[in-house]
Order: sequence, then C-alpha cells, then structure tokens
Amino acid sequence: MHFRDPIDKKSSGRQSLTRTVDSFSSTPLSNADSSYVIPSGPRIVCPDNTPHFLLIPAVNPQIVLIDTISSTQKVANWELWDQPALRSGHFRPTSKDLPYSVETVPGGKHLGVVATRLIKAGELVVSEKPTFVLNLLKLDEKYLDDGPMQLSALSLLAPERRDGYMSLYNCFEKEHSPPSGILRTNYLPVDITPTPDVGDACGVKGIFELLCRANHSCSPNVNYFFDFATFSGQFWAVRDIQLGEEICIQYLWLLRTREKRREVGEEYFRFTCQCRVCTRSHAESEQGDARRLFIDSLMPDIETPSLANDKLNEDVTVQQLEDAVKYAEEEELFVFIGRIRIAGAKLLIEQQSWVEAGAWARLAKDAFVRSQGPSSYNVKACEGLLEDIRAHAK
Ligand SMILES: [Zn+2]
Repeated sequence: MHFRDPIDKKSSGRQSLTRTVDSFSSTPLSNADSSYVIPSGPRIVCPDNTPHFLLIPAVNPQIVLIDTISSTQKVANWELWDQPALRSGHFRPTSKDLPYSVETVPGGKHLGVVATRLIKAGELVVSEKPTFVLNLLKLDEKYLDDGPMQLSALSLLAPERRDGYMSLYNCFEKEHSPPSGILRTNYLPVDITPTPDVGDACGVKGIFELLCRANHSCSPNVNYFFDFATFSGQFWAVRDIQLGEEICIQYLWLLRTREKRREVGEEYFRFTCQCRVCTRSHAESEQGDARRLFIDSLMPDIETPSLANDKLNEDVTVQQLEDAVKYAEEEELFVFIGRIRIAGAKLLIEQQSWVEAGAWARLAKDAFVRSQGPSSYNVKACEGLLEDIRAHAK
C-alpha cells in the first residue's frame, strides 16, 4: 500500500559532498571490473549522515542508490546482485513483456498507462527495478530537494536510464527544477528491509521509469507493492482490467471524503482528481464518503504495511468488519480487504471462534495473494496464522 501525502516541504540548494562507495561488492559481478571509483584524490572520511552513491551494476549502472555509507555498504553486499538476470542487465521489462503501453490519456493527465489486453485479477502486471533510490530514513529530508546532489547521482547512470528519469513529469515546475521536481512528483516507496517497513514507510523513495507513468485513481485497479526479494516495484491487478482501460495506483490516502481527497491532490500533486469515484453525483458521493470514513474509523493503524501492526479500535465487532469488507468492495477499495480480513481473523481468535477465524484468515490470504503476490510477507503471515488456528482447533 502506498500514499505519499502529506510530505514535508523543505528546500535546500546546498551542494553536498558526494562520493561512490569504493568497492561494489565482496562478490564481484564480473571479473572485468568490480568497482567504480570516482577519482577523488585523498580519501575523505565523511560523517555517516552525508549521502553516498552506490551504483548497480558497477559497469553501465542501471540503479543509483543514495544513502549513508554504512547502509550503502550493506546493500552493496546483498546476494541479490549476483542473480544471473542482473548480470545480463535485465533491470527493466522490455515492451514485449508488458500488457500495457504508455500513451496520452484524457483529462489533462498528460501520459498514462493503458492496458493492451484483458488483465485478470491477481495478475502481476509489471515488475521493474528502480532507477534512482534515495534513503531519507537516516539522511536529512533536505536531500529530497537537493538538485545538484541528485544531478551528480544521475550523471553516473547509464545514459538511457538517466534520460528515462529526466523524461518523467514534473508537476512542481515553478518551485522545483527537474531532478527534484521529478522526484517529488513521482516517487514511490521502496523497502530496503526483508520485512515490510512500518511507520515512516515512505522514507526510502524510488523512481521507476515505467511504474511512475501510472496516474492516480481513488479506486485503483492495481496495487503498487515493493518486492524486497527481487528489489522490484510491482503492480498487481486487484480486479479484472479491460483492454483500453487506464491502469491507476493511489497517490493519496483513500479513506477520506471526496472533498478532502481533492484538497490534498491539489496541494501535493497539483491535480484535481477526475476519476470515476470523484465524478459521481452528489448523492452517490456522499454515500461513498460515508463508506470510506466507516472503514477508516475501525482500524486506526490500517495504513501501516505490516500485519504485525494491524490494530482495531476497541469495541469493534465482527459484524462491523463484515460491513467494512462490503463497503470496500462497493467502493472498489480492494487494496484494503486483506487488512480488514486479517483483523477479523484476529478478533475471532480472541473469541475462540476457530472455524470462523480460519475462514477469515483464508480470505485474507486470498486478498493478499491478489494484491501483493503469492510469496509476499503478508501471505506468509496469513499462512502462519492459519497454522496457529489449526493448532487451537484440535
Ligand atoms: Zn478520485
């Protein structure tokens, strides 16, 4: 799940100290050249809160990761980078792999992503490695707007990857020049730990040449999910998508009224949402607002990406969660169903209703398989819960 508002607005024009990590990896990608070093004269020891660049792979880099030196070194040593697909340079899908094309879409949205065939619910629509990753969990937020630092990082990339980044839309033209304006307009959260990030989940920001072309909808037909195992951003179809239909993700927190969503969209992304949900009649829209606020009221922590943190308001009943599932289906908020179902399973376990709890956990698992893929962390967590229920039900 992802939403990017509200974000801190800070700006800085300060030129930052930037260097590459000297050694790419303890297990070199190829014998020819395992490191990329900027000739920088005497070695400078930087405090750990200044940005360092990691280039992957070392030759003809496809990804630049900007992080503290200790974190960069950790990432550089991931076994993931030794995978054959990466050695052969397969960092982004080719056009023949894709069930969609990037084209001009109506409604003043410039470019968008359109399905070129029927895509079935639960299908992996696209999986793509980021071009640019900026970890602001430890680095200062000011680096989000540090254009010169971002340009230095981009200058190290393979030219086609750099051009891909620079060709993305900048909705902040007046306030932010292209690299930082493009970053603010397009970033998606990236996960650099094996378990889903909690709390400040948007701290690591990624730019993807293809994924970032998708526009927003208040009833998105795909779920953006970051798969740590392959270090890829993915779109999973949460319902059937028809040929010619626009493929949309969510930029905004969806469990709000239309008015509030519009306000936030205009403030943070400079667009007025014209999605199907936002263009309903006044009466329908009021009904929709009530359904969304009802779901929001049940689970104060519903936005956290980890199941471990799902928490119910006190006094929530199974019947209310049943209603929440129904409302989520009516509002086509399929991305929330797994979370509601898992909360129900936990509540039923507390009530020692083992059979019903098992049914809810299975439905939660199905929902997560569709929105995050069969090998995702949350699917495994549901399987663990099902094991536990079986143990109790005996
Ligand atoms: Zn909308």
